[in-house]
Amino acid sequence: MTELTTYKYFAGGEWLEPDSGQWIESENPAIGELWARVPDCNYVDVDRAVQAAKSAFYDGPWSQMSGTERSQILRRIGDVVVKNAERLGEIETRDNGKLPKNITPALRSWQTDSFYYYAGMTDKFEGSVIPLDLPDMVNYLEWEPFGVCGLITAWNSPLGVLIWKLAPALAAGNTVVIKPSEHASASTLEFMDVLQEAELPPGVVNVVTGYGAPTGEALVTHPDVRMVSMTGGIPGGRAVASAASKQVKPLVMELGGKSPQIVFEDADLELAVNGIASGIFPVAGQSCVSGSRAVVHHSLVEEFTERLIAVSAKAKIGDPLDPSTQIGPIANRPHYEKILTDIENAEKSGANLVLDGRNFGSEAGYYIGPTIFSEVTNDMDLAQHEIFGPVIGIISFTEEDEAVHVANDSIYGLAAGIWTRDTNRAIRIAKRLEAGTIYINNYFNASTQSPVGGFKQSGYGRENGIEGMRCFMQTKSVWQATNPSESDPFPL
Ligand code: NAD
Repeated sequence: MTELTTYKYFAGGEWLEPDSGQWIESENPAIGELWARVPDCNYVDVDRAVQAAKSAFYDGPWSQMSGTERSQILRRIGDVVVKNAERLGEIETRDNGKLPKNITPALRSWQTDSFYYYAGMTDKFEGSVIPLDLPDMVNYLEWEPFGVCGLITAWNSPLGVLIWKLAPALAAGNTVVIKPSEHASASTLEFMDVLQEAELPPGVVNVVTGYGAPTGEALVTHPDVRMVSMTGGIPGGRAVASAASKQVKPLVMELGGKSPQIVFEDADLELAVNGIASGIFPVAGQSCVSGSRAVVHHSLVEEFTERLIAVSAKAKIGDPLDPSTQIGPIANRPHYEKILTDIENAEKSGANLVLDGRNFGSEAGYYIGPTIFSEVTNDMDLAQHEIFGPVIGIISFTEEDEAVHVANDSIYGLAAGIWTRDTNRAIRIAKRLEAGTIYINNYFNASTQSPVGGFKQSGYGRENGIEGMRCFMQTKSVWQATNPSESDPFPL
């Protein structure tokens, strides 16, 4: 039995024990053993963190700093993240089972680029002078931060998800309170040491840990929290939106997906099969953009299915710390059990199970290998609900319109893939698909410069790119009278 690491929560630059005296235990999903415990924060802890963020915003250094000074700190954070990438990656692997090769290189490169990218933007959000049709009035527009922002994150990629929010939130001049998932809080807490090493002033970033309710809810409904950016599933998103509505609080919502991958009859089949397998299985399907519906032209469906089974069945599943492992465990026990139930239900609904990932399991740990269903129809639960696991359903189509209809027939709209050699068709279909990201002959790419986000119930607001910064800012319109002596209390 491993000795438990006990974490504290972080507010105002201090490590604190939870007011409740209660803790949440965290299991290493690779071996099914408890390894850490994190505070179960209540309203008192949340309030303490929010007050620290409020003071850093209104009285403290953050609001008084120039954009250039904030930019220097953000760059320093980027440098320290790169230095600590391996250590942070190891902790995240222990906490949620994600393979180090899917964490550490990203922390050394494109995820950390967010700090440099948004550092370059702190002094570039220029306002504008609006050309009014009023001769004696000057009107200008300024961009301002909200104040204290709540950042609520999911367990599948705690640091990746966090950085996409944190870098623009800070660059915009906000201070923040983070609430990571109750299933994987450790890397976020360890990240606070990185921020301290980068000499971020106390109170600018704070972390409370705990369950969605009451901890996350206390953050969302705290009157001093001025906006919330959340990444999670649709049920959690609805709960957050409902709680936030009582204070008409602005939100950014990055929610789930059931992304279609359309394979046309002229596709490069090998490229499509490899792209579709790698668009879901390496992270055991635990990515919001996982392409979990393969919508395949009927003329190819048999060969596509055979090839997808062949490449997927070869994947090496097991200990995430073994460098030869290609697919690690499911991140936590409740989610593992949910996926097993979803697979059973899919079988009962009449879908044809052609590759069963449940047989890959080892004695300890929560492993499910690639699982493929053929003869799926889009009205099945398997095609309509996010499983967030290594499970893909193959749906056959005949006409182009039918493919578009199937792809769009979903409450989700996060991403979609198109596999074809016909560029005209690719652009035509991209225009018709209802999703925030469209990949043509590639999948799963992301970069700091390009905004991501959902259509429909996959969410609203965007992360990355210039839009990612705008979501953490609001405009103020200032009216200056240039001839105020001509005022009249009751103009005719
Ligand atoms: P979840 O919705 O259960 O939880 C996400 C976060 O919200 C957690 O921190 C949780 O504690 C908090 N939360 C839940 N209910 C809350 C409430 N009532 N008030 C305040 N906070 C609350 O999601 P999850 O299971 O942690 O993550 C998996 C989901 O996240 C999947 O649906 C996945 O697609 C989605 N996701 C989306 C993106 C994206 O960018 N769109 C990225 C990663 C994951």
